[in-house]
Amino acid sequence: MIELPAAPPKGFMFDLDGTLILSDRKLGGYTVIPGAVEVLEELERRGVPFLALTNGSAYAASVQGPKLRGVGLPIRDERLHTPNSVAAKVFRDNGYASVLVLGTDGVIEALEGFGISCCRPGEEAAKQADAVYTAWHPGCNMDDIHAAAGRVLDGAAFYTASDVPFFATKDGPAFGYSCAINGAVARVTGVEPQVTGKPSQLAMDFLAAELGLAAHEIAVIGDDPKVETEMARGGGAIGVGVTSGTTSAEKWHEQPHERAPDFVIPSVAALLSDGWLG
Ligand SMILES: [Mg+2]
Repeated sequence: MIELPAAPPKGFMFDLDGTLILSDRKLGGYTVIPGAVEVLEELERRGVPFLALTNGSAYAASVQGPKLRGVGLPIRDERLHTPNSVAAKVFRDNGYASVLVLGTDGVIEALEGFGISCCRPGEEAAKQADAVYTAWHPGCNMDDIHAAAGRVLDGAAFYTASDVPFFATKDGPAFGYSCAINGAVARVTGVEPQVTGKPSQLAMDFLAAELGLAAHEIAVIGDDPKVETEMARGGGAIGVGVTSGTTSAEKWHEQPHERAPDFVIPSVAALLSDGWLG
């Protein structure tokens, strides 16, 4: 028997990797998950609000959007979000004049695209930064950690895109650089970072505001119980697990309460074939 929500969700948040696409990190390419194109086209046609939120902070939407459309996924840049989008809103809301960023050029481009004034370790502005933000930063060195720890000890707020040690890819677990950097800064300062990516409630609040809906009206669809489902549970959204990524149907059913989805579907294709859109 197919289970459906009592009423069709009024909006949708999709994870990217394992939910709408599969990344091949070795080739640097993507494959679109069957059914994803049709679902997004149908949501657009009906005017149902939706967005995609990935935890990957390496690229701005203006860089990733064309790549996704290049493999056939019909998603506009303004529907594509990362922890940098969430962070930019938090920084704006808090009125931070300058943020010290431990991240790649792509991270800084994304934040500056949202109007955030950024600086890097070693720059003059770094000595006065109101907040420290750690993200995708494979080239991080000890001077970077020193600069970040110094600002946090001096009272700057401490944020991170992601604090998971490993993230799932088609080729197996990949190393989460920001988590390792956070560990170093937290050990030195005794201050833990606030996460802006999934599963944080900052991310949940951001996407609800973006969609213009209350959390309980939104279906949060993803392949990772510790990421999307935990966020949905915490915020009162409809948690939907897919088995097209890293979590099997058996694994979904073994999840503890705080990570248990409301529904498990094989892939996003079921949203159309099972009548989720009403
Ligand atoms: Mg995923």
